Amino acid sequence: MTQTDVLIVGAGAAGLFCAGVAAQQGLQVLLLDHSPKVAEKIRISGGGRSNFTNKDIDPRAPHKHFLGENPPFARSALSRYTATDFMGLMDKHGVAFHEKHKGQLFCDRSAQDLIDMLLRECEAGAMGGAVTRWQPCSLQSLQFSDARAHGYTAQTSQGEVQARAVVVATGGLSIPKIGATDLGYRLASQFGLQVVTPRPALVPLTFAASDWQPFAAMAGLSQSVEISTGMGKQRPVFEEDLLFTHRGLSGPAVLQISSYWQPGTPIQLNLAPGHDLNAALLEAKQHSKKHVANALAAWLPARLADTWVARDSAWQRSLPDTPDKALHTLARSLGEWSLTPAGTEGYAKAEVTAGGVDTRELSQQTMESRQPGLYFIGEVVDITGWLGGYNFQWAWSSAHACATGLAQRLKPL
Ligand SMILES: Cc1cc2nc3c(=O)[nH]c(=O)nc-3n(C[C@H](O)[C@H](O)[C@H](O)COP(=O)(O)OP(=O)(O)OC[C@H]3O[C@@H](n4cnc5c(N)ncnc54)[C@H](O)[C@@H]3O)c2cc1C
Repeated sequence: MTQTDVLIVGAGAAGLFCAGVAAQQGLQVLLLDHSPKVAEKIRISGGGRSNFTNKDIDPRAPHKHFLGENPPFARSALSRYTATDFMGLMDKHGVAFHEKHKGQLFCDRSAQDLIDMLLRECEAGAMGGAVTRWQPCSLQSLQFSDARAHGYTAQTSQGEVQARAVVVATGGLSIPKIGATDLGYRLASQFGLQVVTPRPALVPLTFAASDWQPFAAMAGLSQSVEISTGMGKQRPVFEEDLLFTHRGLSGPAVLQISSYWQPGTPIQLNLAPGHDLNAALLEAKQHSKKHVANALAAWLPARLADTWVARDSAWQRSLPDTPDKALHTLARSLGEWSLTPAGTEGYAKAEVTAGGVDTRELSQQTMESRQPGLYFIGEVVDITGWLGGYNFQWAWSSAHACATGLAQRLKPL
């Protein structure tokens, strides 16, 4: 039987970082993960270079870049451990990074440098604190008894563990083939905590085969677009790249909007943002005899222009032979393309899982749940970030808040 201050379940971004910070504050930490590899999602993130945070995060206004039933819950943790703090840690370890696009920060060399940094942080325990890591090791059961100092008893594939507190850092359901499971949600339910129904987010959208047939030829084509969904003031709008696929749409624009999309509702696209296509086509008609598709190629990729005009015989003519009304309809169809996805590519392709442990069950200062000594951090919580480093920053900030809370709660016995 092993005794420890803290048992952390899940050695991903949040669990690994939490373990290091807690050990540096004098706690004995046992970190377990059922996967043989540590932090596999960090390794594959950002195309192998990990987009580990974003300079544009506004900790005072989490609703700008985070979704969930209550995004302001994230304010406390995001304000107390910021993107600048994490950049400072990277600097301290000499891990070089650069900004790519819209505040997104990536490792210069490889995501492995970031994983190695987190492992070194785990080795830097202080005041008697240390991290022991068991991998692969699965959690078979978890019981609580408030009659004992070590209130939690865990049965694991490496034997019984008694812990004063337990941190659940098992992430979401995305990418099951590298170890994602529903353990975090099951543990929450076991202790009577509410879970907001999980769903795939930052995920490609798919369409019925018959609806998609006219566009399938555009697979592989990328185009900067404006994309939106929903109604009213809260309507999110993104200007990003769109990627046509064989089954539907992907690319940063679609991944972003997918997190907001409600099944059965349409998404709206402007395929030529920044251009008044109606005015431009009417103007071109004054002096050009080009075919409409060739004229459109001034503002759109030629393959997109060709595929688009093939949809209506009224557009398959030269500019002078095309009535103004038909040019107007064409411009509108490109500027206000409305289409209803049949679904998403699901957890196999989703970068994150929206939903999760209801924030009303957790302390925003420490991430402790209503169940004393049981904490939830990272993606398992109902806080989901935009594409662009926001999800990792939530993992770092929530982990740091938790580790600090643990150190205050677990004074040496
Ligand atoms: C392809 C891809 C690319 C991404 N790129 C980025 C990016 O560039 N920037 C960004 O901010 N975010 C990115 N994300 C999202 C980001 O990886 C996650 O939000 C982040 O890893 C969440 O951290 P976490 O510690 O909560 O969960 P994870 O990092 O998923 O860690 C959870 C850990 O728990 C373990 N676990 C699960 N179930 C069990 C169980 N039953 N028993 C024991 N252990 C278990 C898992 O093996 C895993 O090690 C990407 C995600 C994917 C899938």
